[in-house]
Amino acid sequence: NEILLQKALQVIQVLESHQYQAYLVGGAVRDHLLGREVADADIATSALPDEVMQLFDKVFPTGIEHGTVLVRWEGESFEVTTFRQESDYEDFRHPNQVMFVTDIKEDLSRRDFTINAMAMDHNLSIIDPFHGRNDIHRQMLRTVGNATERFQEDPLRMMRAVRFSSQLGFIIERETINAIERNGSLLSHIAMERIAVEWEKLLAGSFIELSLEALFLTKLYKYIPIISGSSIIQEKIQHIHVPIHSISAFISYLTISEPAVSVEEWTKSWKLSNQTKRHANQIKDAIQIYRNGEADWAIYQVPSDLIEHFVLVYQLLHEVRLKAETIHQIKRSLPIHNTQQLAVNGNHIKQLFPSETPGKWIQELLTIVEKSVVTGKLKNDRNTISEWVINERDETRPTN
Ligand code: ATP
Ligand code: MG
Repeated sequence: NEILLQKALQVIQVLESHQYQAYLVGGAVRDHLLGREVADADIATSALPDEVMQLFDKVFPTGIEHGTVLVRWEGESFEVTTFRQESDYEDFRHPNQVMFVTDIKEDLSRRDFTINAMAMDHNLSIIDPFHGRNDIHRQMLRTVGNATERFQEDPLRMMRAVRFSSQLGFIIERETINAIERNGSLLSHIAMERIAVEWEKLLAGSFIELSLEALFLTKLYKYIPIISGSSIIQEKIQHIHVPIHSISAFISYLTISEPAVSVEEWTKSWKLSNQTKRHANQIKDAIQIYRNGEADWAIYQVPSDLIEHFVLVYQLLHEVRLKAETIHQIKRSLPIHNTQQLAVNGNHIKQLFPSETPGKWIQELLTIVEKSVVTGKLKNDRNTISEWVINERDETRPTN
């Protein structure tokens, strides 16, 4: 995204025109050099947060305790962070104190991998004290400094190594691999939410196979909840060979493959949102109905925005590709698209049987009607349905 980059360089120039140093840093520099799309542009500066706040009209102190303010510029947001060092990672999570420094090189030295530890100034010149460009050229992930020390400081970096490998197709350098192998158990100190964020990016990476190889080679999988405890799940994950753009699809695939671990257990243990849980269940249920031979009824129940995922899970399970467009077409051609479009509702059913006490049977009957309409066995017309329902109810009514 050239425009985003240009705007970031403008923010940098504003800072420079006030005698501060300022650089584009981190993932944006890496992705720019790789010719990949730059999704967000982080800026590092010698200006203190208060000073940055004074220079721009639209600024928000979003992370001021670690030196970050958000600058809105030309309709884009930029995180502007004061050069800093971190020290004493006592709890493996957050540095005990953040120390502002005056040299960009010191700021770069706290970053995780050489390819993420470059800075670019407004002339597009690169500051690269750890030879990140060389590693980009060699397609290598290497920690800045001693790998063991860097992983002991922040064990999440081990997960990040594997996810960058998935996104970029880079090999993890030998020393770094060995350090992951020796320090994997430290991952247990990291909050599951943070691991899940990296996992989600890992799953969606174009080079997922390569990164899963690293995950198993280093045995890092042994320290990821649920995966660590099930050899069936490990085996299934080892065979994933396509990117999975949704953690709900991932969970529904694995719950179908290994029903001993439920969707609920996954989402609870991985601290995932209720929406992820709901989607995982919707995909899983629809796949199971589909595999039962009730294609229309299954497709009716998958929300349109989950069809991509539905198709993907089916492909993971059967090595057969369904076309999402075909499923969309089938969905569009169904007689109805939701319960509201049914020609009858609970009240109509109740009125057909005035002598019976309302109860669960109404909803059950309604679902049978809905399914019969969706699958084309019954016309969506109130009279036709009423007649049919009266017959049906006679057959299913308890005889006592
Ligand atoms: P993405 O494209 O996924 O956002 P990114 O490189 O921007 O990739 P972020 O997680 O957004 O990754 O982090 C921004 C930058 O901050 C990284 O490029 C890296 O320099 C630094 N960084 C992030 N997390 C860590 C960490 N745990 N340890 C050291 N440096 C880190
Ligand atoms: Mg980023």
